[in-house]
Amino acid sequence: MVIEGSTGWPPPRSSSAAERDQAALSTSFERRRRIAPRCGSRPSWCTSRRVSSASPAPKSSRPERAQLRVGIPKALSVWSTHQFWVGFLHALGVDERNIVFSSDTSEEQFRTYGKGRGTVEACYAVKCVSGHYGELIFGQRKKIHVLLHPMFLTLPSFLRGHVAETFACTRDMAAAENIKAGFLREKDVFAENGIAYCNPLVSLGEPQLVAKQLYESMQKALALDWDEVQPAVDAGFRALRRFNDSMRTASRKTLEWCAQNSRPCVMVLARPYHMDPGVGHEIESELQSKGYPVIWAQYFPLDDDLLQWLFGEEIRRGEIKSPLDIAGVWVSSYSSSTNEIVWGAKVAARARELAALVRSHATASTS
Ligand code: SF4
Repeated sequence: MVIEGSTGWPPPRSSSAAERDQAALSTSFERRRRIAPRCGSRPSWCTSRRVSSASPAPKSSRPERAQLRVGIPKALSVWSTHQFWVGFLHALGVDERNIVFSSDTSEEQFRTYGKGRGTVEACYAVKCVSGHYGELIFGQRKKIHVLLHPMFLTLPSFLRGHVAETFACTRDMAAAENIKAGFLREKDVFAENGIAYCNPLVSLGEPQLVAKQLYESMQKALALDWDEVQPAVDAGFRALRRFNDSMRTASRKTLEWCAQNSRPCVMVLARPYHMDPGVGHEIESELQSKGYPVIWAQYFPLDDDLLQWLFGEEIRRGEIKSPLDIAGVWVSSYSSSTNEIVWGAKVAARARELAALVRSHATASTS
């Protein structure tokens, strides 16, 4: 794996790795179904702000919005979209200090806050969300007013337009409804704690739909005015893009450092929430502590020189349409994170300087 004679990135092209594609793929296609969005109980502090899509909301009071504390469980696809929510809420006037993410998943978190709230669920990553809800409801020094847990229908993948779809996993999408049930079993824990529960169904992969989806599902909890939603959605996407770009810049620097120092680089092929130490078991941190630089496939740099170095010959031969085309190895390209893992495997198969670390479902799921 040591890079010989490399002075920068991309290093000289290796032509022997393409056959490894198929063997590197060990993912599955998730079937999807739609879940109707719901906004749950409404706390007393916003009862005077009842609005409907038919009658636009009154102008919201910025000072009041700024005082709102919004809790978001740091779980599942929130790991790859958090900056959208920060940008969106901040543009609506919520103070960034009042956007509260739960802490990393841990056994202690589940024992303290999630025990007894479990519902029927086979996926470990989803089960853990009970602990995140409990921490946001019971574990804050300053209480939250809104618990926001988006139900993602599609995700804003960099592969969108090159694949069939970018759906989220159905279990991820349904997690909000599932976990919520554990907090409604005996009584409405949200209402009891003065918390508005919001689980908007949102298609972040289709930006043109997002303002309508979020307005309809969050207007009561945030007292939204329709006119302010689209600019806030745009701000959310800008924030997400900025964050993703900065991550790709950091990945490129890591790759360049590895090339200049003849060091191998580990690229993790996993779903974004494997970054959560309680779900991903810190395997990549262990590798880092042994001196191996680590990057994630989702944040592999998308610079043209790199993509041409990796895929240019196949494009010229007419085998693929673009560097982001995975149709040759993954026809059922509907699942966003599966697609990205498959693409990462293609990259790793072509760059002998990268060692791919595949994190499978079995690592994160009891199913
Ligand atoms: S671990 Fe698997 S089943 Fe669970 S949410 Fe992720 S993709 Fe879906």
